[in-house]
Amino acid sequence: MADSYRYRCGECGHRTSWGSESEGEKAIEKHYRHNHPAVVPGGMVEFRKGSSGGGGGCLLALGILVVILIIASQH
Ligand SMILES: [Zn+2]
Repeated sequence: MADSYRYRCGECGHRTSWGSESEGEKAIEKHYRHNHPAVVPGGMVEFRKGSSGGGGGCLLALGILVVILIIASQH
């Protein structure tokens, strides 16, 4: 699936539209530049598998990974 990724801003809850992983990264980076210029880009990434609605565990793992990266980058 080319449109399986969505990023959520960790500051204001803004969500990008579903897209590819690289599209989502660009969208959330742009959002941070415009809305939170003093904050290191982070937040959550959501991943969906087709239309089955599954992959919740995968989504959770990805989200935690992103949060760890954010914390590490702030020290
Ligand atoms: Zn935001």
